[in-house]
Amino acid sequence: MVKNSKNIISILLVMVLLCQGCGHSADGVTGSGTAVTDVAGTSLTDSIRSDSGTDNSSADNSAENISGTENTGKDSSNTGKTDSEKADTEQPNTDSSNTNSSNTNSSNTDQSNADKSNTDKSDAEQSNTDSSVIEEQNDTTKENNTMTPEISEKDFYIAMISDEIFARMKGKSYKDDCNVPIEDLRYIHILHKNLEGNTLEGEMVCHEIIAQDLLEIFEELYLNNYPIERVELVDNYDADDETSMTANNSSCFNYRCISHTTKISKHGLGIAVDINPLYNPYTKIVDGTRTIEPAAGAPYLDREADFPYKIDENDLCYKLFIEHGFQWGGSWTNSKDYQHFELPDAVADELRAKYK
Ligand SMILES: [Zn+2]
Repeated sequence: MVKNSKNIISILLVMVLLCQGCGHSADGVTGSGTAVTDVAGTSLTDSIRSDSGTDNSSADNSAENISGTENTGKDSSNTGKTDSEKADTEQPNTDSSNTNSSNTNSSNTDQSNADKSNTDKSDAEQSNTDSSVIEEQNDTTKENNTMTPEISEKDFYIAMISDEIFARMKGKSYKDDCNVPIEDLRYIHILHKNLEGNTLEGEMVCHEIIAQDLLEIFEELYLNNYPIERVELVDNYDADDETSMTANNSSCFNYRCISHTTKISKHGLGIAVDINPLYNPYTKIVDGTRTIEPAAGAPYLDREADFPYKIDENDLCYKLFIEHGFQWGGSWTNSKDYQHFELPDAVADELRAKYK
């Protein structure tokens, strides 16, 4: 029995040992699971970690690398490509057109250069734009000078005779015995064109009853580039009519009486105007002798000849004065006064009666 018991115990021990060896016990599932997990987990995890780690790592790395490479690549390719494009294409073009700097610097510098060049270019374009605007303005100004002059109240206006103007007139056109009240006279300021197309300032003293007409006539002449050589107060010529006419000066008021009478002349009343007198002289034959005023206007007595400033019935100046109720000295029969436009005798007589 003891021997059997020993045998039985031995058998049991062997079974126990065998069971532990194969590990397929009920506990062994968990245990083996644990053991498997532990063993296989270690190896698999390591290998998986290693593999996936490698994969992941390579994936990550590649992802990182890809994204990194892509990003970096994109960045670098963007930066590089952009820079290299700028450096290779835009930059040299920009630089060659705008600056002389070489593109051997870094991309950033190139970029800065590109920006700077762009800025320079913008400036250049800006200045080009500015200069073209100025050119346009110049063209406009030129156009205004030659084609479409504008009327401004600061250029074309009527004023009472100021103390300053009266000081210029006193003792000259406004003689000491002048019985036309200074309050009835007007100063008009105008612009006019000369034969070369240049704009000049003009000033004239006239009777108040024609001031508005004269202003409108001179405005129209100016707008039509009608050439008038000069429009100055006759006082600039010491009120000497011959000197003023010889200078081809257009004028109006100059107090005087008709020769050998006490009748105030129409110029004396400020209701007669002479335009471009040198080229449109006065002439009359007295006792077989021709009088020409100004004498220097003799070459222009031939009214069939062609010369500048000539007034005839096709002339704009003639038409405008006629429209405003003036009469032309070129229409007279006993004498000719081609420069001269005046209000009718009836108006003159009325004024003379008023100032007597
Ligand atoms: Zn006259």
